[in-house]
Amino acid sequence: MSLPEKCPLCQVGREQQTVVTPHVYGGAGKGHSFFHCLGCDVRYMYPGLTSAEEARFYAAEFEGFMAGRAGAGGGWQKVEDHIQANEPTRLRRMKYLAPYLGHSSNLLEVGCSSGFMLAPLIEAGHKCVGVEPSGVFSEHLKSRGLPICQSMDQLSSLPLSADFDLIMHFFVLEHIAQPQAFLEAQLALLKPGGKIIFEIPNAADPLYSVYDIPAFERFYWSVAHPWYFSEASLQYLLQQIGRPFQILRDQRYDLSNHMIWARDGRPGGMGRFTEALGSELEDDYKQALIRIGKCDTLIGIISNE
Ligand SMILES: [Zn+2]
Repeated sequence: MSLPEKCPLCQVGREQQTVVTPHVYGGAGKGHSFFHCLGCDVRYMYPGLTSAEEARFYAAEFEGFMAGRAGAGGGWQKVEDHIQANEPTRLRRMKYLAPYLGHSSNLLEVGCSSGFMLAPLIEAGHKCVGVEPSGVFSEHLKSRGLPICQSMDQLSSLPLSADFDLIMHFFVLEHIAQPQAFLEAQLALLKPGGKIIFEIPNAADPLYSVYDIPAFERFYWSVAHPWYFSEASLQYLLQQIGRPFQILRDQRYDLSNHMIWARDGRPGGMGRFTEALGSELEDDYKQALIRIGKCDTLIGIISNE
């Protein structure tokens, strides 16, 4: 196992770096491990992917998506299914986006996938731009008239001014090799007082931090994620940026999902027992995890002030 000399986030030395796991999902036999920095509390993969490995990884992901889409219904059906399946996610996110939306705001979503967040915002009168590398999703979005780029670098080619009120991304930051530079590039595209709002997985996921389920651990530490942030390490990252910020907690997965992990050691249990248990219990359970800080999701809000 190769050992890091120092933390790639806070730079403290190797005596503060401990091994989380040498089992990296999707990275078998490639010599990667996850480490935990006791200085800033971040978890990170070491060694990181080289640019060439990263490009190969995402090209393969995309091929997998294309192969899946050849099934019954074809690509467009898949896009519609994606939009429909994500309606509860959209509603959950709108709770914390809504306070920052004006009458007709300029919005950018980085990694907008099928556009399930943006389409209703366009209908509500906001001016929206999406960045989406997946060809299938971006074709669909263009056909619906949404200005769309395949990368952040292409934004300047759009016939509109890049002064956004709000830039959002959901489960993107943990994939980015240089998260501070990624956020700073977005600050440069915001109006004064504009906001960046993002979601990431919380390293204190209860399946790991409360229940310690081995099957979940083998699934969780993914080669696609150079970073796993906790509240403390996200706070460290955002302090480096030097703008006002807030960190909020949320819980995406329900008690049913956790019970299936505990019973069968696999994902996919969402909603399984909700009818039997009642949705009130599911809600109380999520709130309890949020209260103790052992919840699966963190939301960062950065102000351009
Ligand atoms: Zn550190």
